[in-house]
Amino acid sequence: MIKKEYKKRTPIEKLEKHRFIDKKTGCWIWTGRIDNSGYGRILIKTNNGKQKVFNVHRYSFSAYNNVELTTFDIICHQCHNRKCFNPAHLIKSTQLNNSIEKLRDWDEFQFENKEIVDKYLSIKEDVKKAYYNWHRKL
Ligand SMILES: [Zn+2]
Repeated sequence: MIKKEYKKRTPIEKLEKHRFIDKKTGCWIWTGRIDNSGYGRILIKTNNGKQKVFNVHRYSFSAYNNVELTTFDIICHQCHNRKCFNPAHLIKSTQLNNSIEKLRDWDEFQFENKEIVDKYLSIKEDVKKAYYNWHRKL
């Protein structure tokens, strides 16, 4: 008897299995799991064999551009469609200081990158405090 071999899907195959292309906008709508805030979620087995949940748009950006993302890499939707994972609609920003305040859709951005924004704002406060304390010593 021939053992049925389990076919391991590549990240891109996994993503495209749940893709509906909106012909009007060009958005790739995620048809898989959506979280409470409207973002697609994907369950991926990591190298250590554990399952991990990823944000679909972040996962997509990383898979199609073949780049590893760090927690400081911010991925924004240019199409403002949270369910979209078309890599052409996603932009990355690592320039925290310059880009955060410049962004047009601050609310949407904060929502989309809550963890990073919180981290950034807390760092900013720490820097301010450190600067202030340093000044007082002079
Ligand atoms: Zn889109």
